[in-house]
Amino acid sequence: MTDNEETETDSASLPANYTPLALEKEIREFWHEQQIREKLEMLEKNAKGLLGYVEGPPTLNGIPHIGHARGRVMKDVRYRWKTMEGYYMPFWAGWDCQGLPVELEVEKLLGVRNKRESIEKYGMERFIEECKKAIMRYHAMWLQADSNIGVFINQEKAYWTYKDSYIEREWQILKHAWDQGLLEEGHYVVAYCPGCQTSLSSAEVGYEGSYKEVEDPSLYFKFKVADSKNEFFLIWTTMPFTIITDTMLAVQPSAEYVKVKVGEEVWIMVKQRVEPVMAELQITKYQITESMLGKTLEGTPYEYPLKDMIPKQAENETLHPLVHKVIGEDFVDVNTATGVVHLSPGNGEDDFWAAQRRGIPIFAPLDDEVKFTKDAGLFVGVFARDADFPVVEELRNRNAFVKVTMVKHEYPTCWRSHHKLVWLARKEYFLRTDKINSKVLEAAEKVEYFFDEPKNRFLGFLKEGKPWCISRERIWGTPLPIWTCEKCAEKRLIASKKELLNHAQEAIPDNFELHKPWVDRVTLKCEKCSGTMRREDFVLDTWHNSGASPYARFTDKEVTKFVPTDFLTEGIDQTRGWANSLLLLHVILTGKPEAPYKSFLFQGLTQDAKGRKMSKSLGNVVETNKLLEKNSADLCRFYMMRKCSSIDFMNFDMQELTRRPYQVLSTLYHLSRFFLQNATFDEFTPSKYTLEWAAKANKLQAADQWLLSKLQEKIEDYTEKLGRCEFNAAVAVLDDFVIETLSRLYVPMIRKELWTDEPETFERRQTIYALLHHTLKTVTLLFNPITPYLSETLYQKIYRQLEPNLPESVNMAPWPTPNMKLRDKTLEEQFDILLKTVSIGYAARQQGKLKRRWPLSKAIVVAPEKILDALRNLEELFLELTNVKAAEYSTNVPEYVGGENWVSSQIDEVTVFVSGQRDEKLLGEGIMRDLARRVQALRKEMGFVPTEVLESVHIAELDPESMVLLEPYLGEMAGLVRARKVYLHTSCKEVDAQWHESELDSKKIHLNIH
Ligand SMILES: [Zn+2]
Ligand SMILES: [Zn+2]
Repeated sequence: MTDNEETETDSASLPANYTPLALEKEIREFWHEQQIREKLEMLEKNAKGLLGYVEGPPTLNGIPHIGHARGRVMKDVRYRWKTMEGYYMPFWAGWDCQGLPVELEVEKLLGVRNKRESIEKYGMERFIEECKKAIMRYHAMWLQADSNIGVFINQEKAYWTYKDSYIEREWQILKHAWDQGLLEEGHYVVAYCPGCQTSLSSAEVGYEGSYKEVEDPSLYFKFKVADSKNEFFLIWTTMPFTIITDTMLAVQPSAEYVKVKVGEEVWIMVKQRVEPVMAELQITKYQITESMLGKTLEGTPYEYPLKDMIPKQAENETLHPLVHKVIGEDFVDVNTATGVVHLSPGNGEDDFWAAQRRGIPIFAPLDDEVKFTKDAGLFVGVFARDADFPVVEELRNRNAFVKVTMVKHEYPTCWRSHHKLVWLARKEYFLRTDKINSKVLEAAEKVEYFFDEPKNRFLGFLKEGKPWCISRERIWGTPLPIWTCEKCAEKRLIASKKELLNHAQEAIPDNFELHKPWVDRVTLKCEKCSGTMRREDFVLDTWHNSGASPYARFTDKEVTKFVPTDFLTEGIDQTRGWANSLLLLHVILTGKPEAPYKSFLFQGLTQDAKGRKMSKSLGNVVETNKLLEKNSADLCRFYMMRKCSSIDFMNFDMQELTRRPYQVLSTLYHLSRFFLQNATFDEFTPSKYTLEWAAKANKLQAADQWLLSKLQEKIEDYTEKLGRCEFNAAVAVLDDFVIETLSRLYVPMIRKELWTDEPETFERRQTIYALLHHTLKTVTLLFNPITPYLSETLYQKIYRQLEPNLPESVNMAPWPTPNMKLRDKTLEEQFDILLKTVSIGYAARQQGKLKRRWPLSKAIVVAPEKILDALRNLEELFLELTNVKAAEYSTNVPEYVGGENWVSSQIDEVTVFVSGQRDEKLLGEGIMRDLARRVQALRKEMGFVPTEVLESVHIAELDPESMVLLEPYLGEMAGLVRARKVYLHTSCKEVDAQWHESELDSKKIHLNIH
């Protein structure tokens, strides 16, 4: 940088004001035009190591909002940081395209109420077409959001979970499960959503927010003991419709049961619940007549009261001797209700297993819409929950009714549609992950989770170890690749498109793809009996779809390179979602107790400024693209990383963007610009005036050494915190370094030295530039993962201008590492003492209402010897910072100190006295020196060569008092600023000149030089 003209244009290209939106646009164009992202992809061959990564695919059925942005920025932070450290990471996008959410949206768009209606009206081909269109609409918004917020993910190499090639890889994982006997068909009780018309996995049932307060009937009813005169079992339920599928009663074998005489009847219930239940039923007259152990009740038959309406129930009694009898079960809770439980194996999980264990047939007369079938007799066609009150009425008609009220209670609802879930026995396909649970747990234990709380939550969930119901009765998903023979029921799993086409019995159309309805049209010939095999009409759970990604998105070669991945991060809700399905499928695939990720950060979710969940209904969703139309991406990134710990809920408050985040980034910007302007003026060349040069030539002063020492500490601290995913603490390190260390402390220590342009101090100024250059450049690099736009701006406009040989983008620059030789803890301690003492001095000034700018004649520090030593060592800085002419150090308060002439302040064992008298001579000199600095700065700004002598300097509109104080020093000032003469004016109007605004004591003054 020797050409003066070029220098001027370059510094001019860093505008006087920090305007992040404009800079970000410019940088986005730079990245695009110079293909920086593509060039980073080329770094793989020279990388010092590979770090596997697979993108947690966002579902393309929602508009990207700030909660998504927060997670994506965390990923980007890791990527940019690790790339600068020299690693290669396949930071490639991925999109979750299939599943219920997309279908529901398309149903809404087509204006149909459910699956059946959409197929009848539009046909499946059209429906699939619409699903694809829907995801592409969202995809465009996501691309824009990623680009705006500066997420440097490779969009070209994105994977799509609906593509045939991906689905084939997913099928291959299923084949592994099939071969190991881990994929089974079976009748199980599953949670079923009547709205979505599909079953849910147990993981989905446990989703946050799925339990809602609902109102249900609270029904006490009684079943008559068979062949008795007047004995009844007293029972309670909140789901009267399940009485239609009632099969048994259960009691706790070890508990004490009693017969209670109520009026003319005798009721049987558990003893400990008699009082509360009678109170609830408002029955005051009752009498316990007999008591017995629960197990003596086992085998007691009862009269099922609705047999006349449901003939099938009478038939059921002939199928197994235990139908409509009492059994003993340990799960019966005797602390609530009556201790007698009615069992509906077709509608309850515990009930189901109780029947299974005894070989009792399951009575589940319900269809896909959860309406009763003709096996339910007169209830045929009634939606299950709509049968609640008709059942109550029928019980009333048959002397089986006791009391009904409405209760509010927590009940699981569908996380998507919020319909009340119903438990149904259905034919489903299961991955028997319960069989490999110990391997899964062992794998999960080995993963790094960074924080204990989400780790415990995840491991706790995995310990449940239930089988995974993977079949869904939907359309837009990966088809279950199992074909069953119509004749002999033989099953066959197909693991690739090729295998399917080779065995197809019919011609394959050109538009064939691995989706319904096309796959359903393919039949196979049974190898056992030559019968026709048809596909099982299920698609896979979408979590199976995305959970297959570490295998399905890569080639075999890439899998070896990148799996297990190094680091993944998703929201805390993914403990039951992606983190779980990734883990299960990887253990199935490899057969090893190994997770497909070495570390997993579960992020906290994002809420609105008031701490409310963001939701469409509240209208408080902050959309990423809308937010970034008017707000800086860097400020948002900085804010989101700085605001709270990565695992905490974040309350996003847009008002806060312009506070601390803006202060920090704009301070870094202005410090950089301050350096650039001064360095340019003195023609600083970083290759010549290096830190090594300064050290060798003994040019480094205490403040410089202190700054370098602090810098090493911060590099180490920051990097370590990034590694632990403590992003907020990491950013706080930089925040503090920029605002406190650099801006508030170091720059004021050296600023005056840059105001002169004397040849004698030239080398001292170069030393300061070398120091600022090194420090600010290091900080710029450290900031890059957090604020990539600002870092690229400063890198291009300052550091690459000064050193054109630097790598093309800040993203390719090497990550700063601490040089421990520059660390000097003794000096840091001395500075701590110095800075503390200086602030005590300020406090003393406040006591005497003495402005910091007023030079004072003397300060006395009273403190222990160790502290005084440190101050003596840094005396020059102490005088400079406290703005006093002389300092005295003492372990005791000197006798002459006291009275009006001194003010003091004390913290701990340090007391600082300053002389409290205004000294007019010093004041005048102080004003003169302040003004001289402003004139010097103006000289530089206007491009006067250091040796050039000014004709005259004009100062206008100083307050009268300052003018009087300054008068005697005008001659000295002219010498300092190299001018023939300095003139004072009460008003600008006195001279017709080009005035430059400046200030003194935050009052406006005007300067003119020529
Ligand atoms: Zn639903
Ligand atoms: Zn067959």
